[in-house]
Amino acid sequence: MGVERTFVAIKPDGVQRGLVGEILSRFERKGFKLVGLKEIIPTRQLAEEHYGVHRERPFFEGLVNFITSGPVVAMVWEGDGVVLSARKLIGSTKPLEAEPGTIRGDLAVNIGRNVIHGSDGLETAEFEIGLWFESSELNDWTPSDQSWRIEN
Ligand code: UDP
Ligand code: MG
Repeated sequence: MGVERTFVAIKPDGVQRGLVGEILSRFERKGFKLVGLKEIIPTRQLAEEHYGVHRERPFFEGLVNFITSGPVVAMVWEGDGVVLSARKLIGSTKPLEAEPGTIRGDLAVNIGRNVIHGSDGLETAEFEIGLWFESSELNDWTPSDQSWRIEN
């Protein structure tokens, strides 16, 4: 599996519950590389574009209201197979069905307050990264310990 980038966002509930450090550390400890990070209160337009595939769903308006209600911590993580791996670290959409050990499994109970978003595929990741970040906000860099990470 090649090097990929994925978009991850800590939703307003995660930020307001003080879970930013806890969540960042899980991706860091896994071995992924942080290449973009910012706190942003999304505009309605950004939120509606981001969740555009859910536009017709009954939860759409509540979801957009919630995601625009306060700061979101938006980030881009890079690494081998990071798109699928991030989804595994995050866990199932319904926190009560998410496995213990996952972010949602450990830190949430309510589907409408499930703490975190992660892109669901390579194409989605590309779309979402472009939606939330300018290319000048993303950094190419090589961690000094990368030599042992890539030999597997
Ligand atoms: N959501 C909700 N009610 C539902 C389904 C989804 O509030 O019945 C919210 C939930 O916050 C979820 C988001 O909509 O994270 C996007 O839904 P999706 O199915 O894409 O889940 P995800 O990709 O976040 O796991
Ligand atoms: Mg989704």
